[in-house]
Amino acid sequence: MSDSNTRYDRQLILPGWGESGQLKLSQSHIWVIGCGGLGGPGALALAAAGIGELTLTDPDTINLNNLHRQYFFSQEDVGQLKVEVLKRKIIALRPDIKINIQPFKFIGSPLERRVNLIFDGTDTFQAKALINQTARALKIPWLYGSVLGYTAEAGIWDPLERACYTCLYPDFPQEELTCDTAGVAGPLPAMIGNYMSWLGIQYLLNPEAPNFGKMIRWDLQTNRILHFQVERNTVCNPECVNYKSVNKDSEAVAQISWTELKAKLQNHSAPPIWDIRPFSTDELPFPHEKKDVQEIMEMEDKNFPERVILICEQGKISNALISRLKDPKPRRFCVSLTGGWNVIRQDLI
Ligand SMILES: [Zn+2]
Repeated sequence: MSDSNTRYDRQLILPGWGESGQLKLSQSHIWVIGCGGLGGPGALALAAAGIGELTLTDPDTINLNNLHRQYFFSQEDVGQLKVEVLKRKIIALRPDIKINIQPFKFIGSPLERRVNLIFDGTDTFQAKALINQTARALKIPWLYGSVLGYTAEAGIWDPLERACYTCLYPDFPQEELTCDTAGVAGPLPAMIGNYMSWLGIQYLLNPEAPNFGKMIRWDLQTNRILHFQVERNTVCNPECVNYKSVNKDSEAVAQISWTELKAKLQNHSAPPIWDIRPFSTDELPFPHEKKDVQEIMEMEDKNFPERVILICEQGKISNALISRLKDPKPRRFCVSLTGGWNVIRQDLI
C-alpha cells in the first residue's frame, strides 16, 4: 500500500469515495477567504481530506481574544499574520499540499489561477455579497457560513444557476453586528467551518448531486437545526430576476405604503404587524410583534392571522419572504410594507 493510501485509507473505503474521488480532491483548488473561526478549521479539514491546492486570503493578525474560538492558533502566534500561521499548520499536517497566501483584504478581485470553489470565512454581509458576485463571475459555487452570538447559518450556493446569497439577503443593515460587537459562542465557528468543508468535499466528489441553496440555521441556545431551501428572488440582481421571469412562480406580492399604514394606525384599523428585522436596534413606534423569518416560513396555515403586515429594513426581505412562502393561503394573508423601516425612519426624522 502506498503512502498516500495509508494517509487516506479510512475515507477511500467509504461508499462513493474511492481512488477516483480522492483524485478529484487532489486536483481541486479552493480559495479560502477569511482565515479565522470558519476558515481556519475549514482549511485544515480540506487539507486533511486531500485537497490539492488552497489559497488563503486574510489581512488580520491573531489577537488574544480570537483564541477562544480560533483554537487552531496558539498563544505564541498572537501578533502574527493569520494566513502565515495557518499555512504553517497546514503544511505541518500535509507537506505535499500547495498553499498560496494573500495577506490582504478581499475586495472582489478574482484569482488569476483556476479555482473550483470559494470557502467563505468572512464575517460581514458586504464581504459575503462580494464573494457571491465573484463566484458568479468565476462561474463556480461557494461555501457560505455565518456565525453570530449563539446562531449560525451555512450552505452551498451556485449563484449562476440557482438562488444566490443576495436572494436570501437582498437588503441588509449598513451598520452590522459582528462577533467583535455581538460575541460568539466558542465552539460554534469550528462546528460550522467543518460542516462547510464537508459540503465542499461532497460537491467535489459528486458535482451532480449538490445541495445548492439548501441552508441550515443552527441555534445553540435551543439546539435546534432548521433546514430551508432558498429560491430565486424577484428583487435580487438582474441575473436572478431575469431567471425568475422566465420561470413560473413570479407571483406579485401584496404591498402597503407607509402613508396607508399610518392612516390605519391612526384610526385603529391596522392589522397585526410583524417586525422581521433580525438586527434591529430601533423599536417600531407602534404595536408590533418581533418575528423570525424562519419561524414565519415554517408556520402552519392555520396559525397565520387573516391579514398581517411584514416590516423589514428596506422592504426587500419582506417581499422575498412572502414570495417564498410555499402555501398560497399565507402568501395571500401577508402584506409587505413598501420600503420597510427605512421609509418610517425618514418620516420620523
Ligand atoms: Zn440572487
